[in-house]
Amino acid sequence: MLSKCLNPACSEPFRYLSEGRVFSLEIPPLGGTRGSVPAQRVERYWLCGNCAKHLKVVIENGEVTTRPLRREFIGERKVAAARASHGHAIH
Ligand SMILES: [Zn+2]
Repeated sequence: MLSKCLNPACSEPFRYLSEGRVFSLEIPPLGGTRGSVPAQRVERYWLCGNCAKHLKVVIENGEVTTRPLRREFIGERKVAAARASHGHAIH
């Protein structure tokens, strides 16, 4: 899912992890829970530098979408924490 900026209004192609911002999101399992319990999966999404300045990636009603950043510094702290715990998994 890192082929381009997640913002549908933006067509910036993905280039480098150092540009923009990568979001690691845990996707809630879909469907019923009869029988086996589906495993939660982690997907990574990318916003280009311009979009990351005013957007963040969230899961809303089970769908990945972008939301406006109200307090950017809080978003940055969250991403920093996510990178600290999952940094080795981001390539
Ligand atoms: Zn963008």
